[in-house]
Amino acid sequence: MFSYRHAFHAGNHADVLKHTVLIATLEHLLEKDAALTVVDTHAGAGLYRLDGDYAGTSGEAAQGVLRLVSETQPGTAQPPLADALARYLAVVHDFNPKGGARIYPGSPFIAQHLLRDHDKLKLFELHPTDARTLDANIAQLEAGRRITVLREDGFGSATKFLPPPSRRALVLCDPSYEIKSDYTRVLDFTAEALKRFATGSYAIWHPIIPRPEAHDLPRRLKTLAAKAGKPWLHATLTVKSSKILTDASGTTHRPGLPASGMFLINPPYTLKAQLEAALPQMAQRLAQDRHAAFSLDSGG
Ligand code: SAM
Repeated sequence: MFSYRHAFHAGNHADVLKHTVLIATLEHLLEKDAALTVVDTHAGAGLYRLDGDYAGTSGEAAQGVLRLVSETQPGTAQPPLADALARYLAVVHDFNPKGGARIYPGSPFIAQHLLRDHDKLKLFELHPTDARTLDANIAQLEAGRRITVLREDGFGSATKFLPPPSRRALVLCDPSYEIKSDYTRVLDFTAEALKRFATGSYAIWHPIIPRPEAHDLPRRLKTLAAKAGKPWLHATLTVKSSKILTDASGTTHRPGLPASGMFLINPPYTLKAQLEAALPQMAQRLAQDRHAAFSLDSGG
């Protein structure tokens, strides 16, 4: 079950989409003084070295955040970045004050970086090594009660924090989908969370790959949000074709992850306009072939 390690994928195109949306959503929610609770159901290790073995082996960040960082160096001729993408790169820069992106912040550290003293962060991570790393990384930063790391099943346990006492929360649900049941568990978790806390904000990442469960998930999330009478927003980013190619020698090449999406329930009302500006730039700057594209859909 535990073959997935986010270190191989940190800073890839899916992280660019996910973390741009996360930062824009958090910054909007943090405009109000009242305490915010962030629940990260699948937290990962929290901080990643992009020049380390894992990221170096996969090379995924080179086609993601590192491409954006190198194209925005002074002297490179590109139109100005949309606000949401500029804010994403500014947060990455905060972890790399000397420039570049050697260190990549995962969702726990992005949240930790932006939250205020009176906010709370609940981090669920089940992988023993990643949970230990996350705990150690967080402990170096603060020993206070603001952040809790739980080595528990995020799907099964995270709803215990809903609703939080301040009745303001953002729940990020970002599983690896390495097992087929993750798709159903995302739906069951979201349904249960909405039942407990209908006014919370929910952000769910999903892969776009040629398998029926992956295709069905956003459709079923839309139905869930519509039945609950809640507004939703769905952003997708495609960077390449999903076709499996066969070369002259007959060897097949799988494309890796070609596309992903973020599905939000009760999104900030400002997010749609922000993504309308940012998504075309992401698709253009992260394109790996002519199939690069984006979509933005909303309802409720
Ligand atoms: N949210 C992270 C980020 O944006 O930086 C990345 C998370 S990664 C996609 C998914 C993580 O979920 C992996 O580290 C995996 O070990 C962990 N995981 C898998 N099943 C889990 C479960 N049921 N509960 C909590 N964590 C789980």
